[in-house]
Amino acid sequence: MTKLAELNFVVIPLLSTSHLIPLADMAKLLAMQGVTVTLLTTALNAARFTAAIDRAIRSGLLIQVVELEFKGKEAGFPEGCENHNDAPGLNYRRQFFAAIDMLQEEAEKALEEMKPKPSCIISDAFVTWTVDTADKFQIPRIVFDGMSCFTQMCRHNLHILNDQKKIPESGTFVIPDLPGRIEVTKTQLPSHFNPVGTVYIQDIRDRIRAAEKSAYGVVINSFEELEQRYVDKFRKLYDNRVWCIGPLSLCNNDDLDKVQRGNKALFDKESSLKKWLDSRQAETVVYACFGSLGRLTVVQFVELALGLEASGYPFILVIKTGEGQAPIEEWISKNGFEERTKERGLLIRGWSPQVVILSHPAVGGFLTHCGWNSTVEGISAGVPLITWPLFAEQFLNEKFLVQVLKIAAGVGCKSIVPLGEEEKFEVQVSSNAVTEVIIKVMDKEKEGNKIRKRARELGEMAKRAVDGGGSSHLNVTLLIKEIQEFQLNQSDKNALV
Ligand code: UDP
Repeated sequence: MTKLAELNFVVIPLLSTSHLIPLADMAKLLAMQGVTVTLLTTALNAARFTAAIDRAIRSGLLIQVVELEFKGKEAGFPEGCENHNDAPGLNYRRQFFAAIDMLQEEAEKALEEMKPKPSCIISDAFVTWTVDTADKFQIPRIVFDGMSCFTQMCRHNLHILNDQKKIPESGTFVIPDLPGRIEVTKTQLPSHFNPVGTVYIQDIRDRIRAAEKSAYGVVINSFEELEQRYVDKFRKLYDNRVWCIGPLSLCNNDDLDKVQRGNKALFDKESSLKKWLDSRQAETVVYACFGSLGRLTVVQFVELALGLEASGYPFILVIKTGEGQAPIEEWISKNGFEERTKERGLLIRGWSPQVVILSHPAVGGFLTHCGWNSTVEGISAGVPLITWPLFAEQFLNEKFLVQVLKIAAGVGCKSIVPLGEEEKFEVQVSSNAVTEVIIKVMDKEKEGNKIRKRARELGEMAKRAVDGGGSSHLNVTLLIKEIQEFQLNQSDKNALV
């Protein structure tokens, strides 16, 4: 068997913030088991997690970062941007994926020279050239697409239904062949099944799907106890090679790692955010954030802000900065919202240290857009969720939280709002709906109490899963063993030739 340190797991994230975050965590998690991990990315993206990775390296973990040159300009991607999130208007998807393809040649050169020799690739599902690279180097390619097994199974069954042209145009329907009764409408489905919006990239999506199907195995940012019935089903699609190794965010034991996860943020004992949270009573604060990409129109933002205010609960509201945000800032100042709510509300502009906030005892509810990272971070923190899905597979995550886990209640979104095209779609959520659902979830009596109790139990379960002897901890060791055995089989085969 190859010694652990001589196994080299090459991790290739998509250059998009919410893909880099879990894969940087995964790099640490694997290295904690004694294997070598090589992260391939570009200079500006590496800068987002260098501090944490440097700390990990200093602590003795075998992690190396290889910086590739990003040729975005040649692909028509805006100059100076190396990350999908940084492109103005988010309408450069085609150019972005062209630039991602251009990384292949340099990456393969790096793999040739790499020490120790690469043992496997952990590839973001959206980086499709790794199919050829893994073939060339005769190593397994394990994909990570940042979803739960529940959502994977929903998508799998929806694809079958879609191929049969049986997705109803209107009304609710039940996703077939799933444990539990999951009701959706076409308008809530990801773009593959519901192509709304103009920036739709079917050919790239098809390529990603094919690459995902051909993978050797899949790693999942989830834990088995959370969704065992769906894990079991999903495993059948990959000959059992599915490893649930999350929640990945829980690998950050160091306070600074938590604070700096994904971007720069401030949360030392002097910071106003920490003081603000420390001054609140336990489980009273609603934290509202729409992930790294999600945006609301000013009209929709007003409903959210007024709904939060009317709920009477203290709140933290994360507001994006940059392009398109001026009307929101204008409303805030003209309406006097920030001034009026300053005793009770805190606005964070830009990047918030989400996992730190969620784990603070003052936080009692998480209003989320249901991106899977945020969803699993909320579950890990043991807080009930208020769901406000926007796009991609977020409505499916909402179903999982509300209908399966029963640790959330929704604001009542009906349809996908494609990213970058928010202005073309109508307001879906009124301030009254926001207030009502917050009161329902935050209420310590009645239904809110049940939701909170279940959320707390799942939070404990999540922590046990990543601890020594827990299911996710065990799955990391099984994944490493799988690669060791693969290498052993390869060398036996080569010896026979
Ligand atoms: N995030 C954060 N601070 C922010 C916004 C987002 O730390 O102000 C992190 C969040 O903790 C999560 C990720 O960014 O890890 C967002 O991923 P998710 O899958 O929830 O949503 P996406 O950004 O893909 O829509």
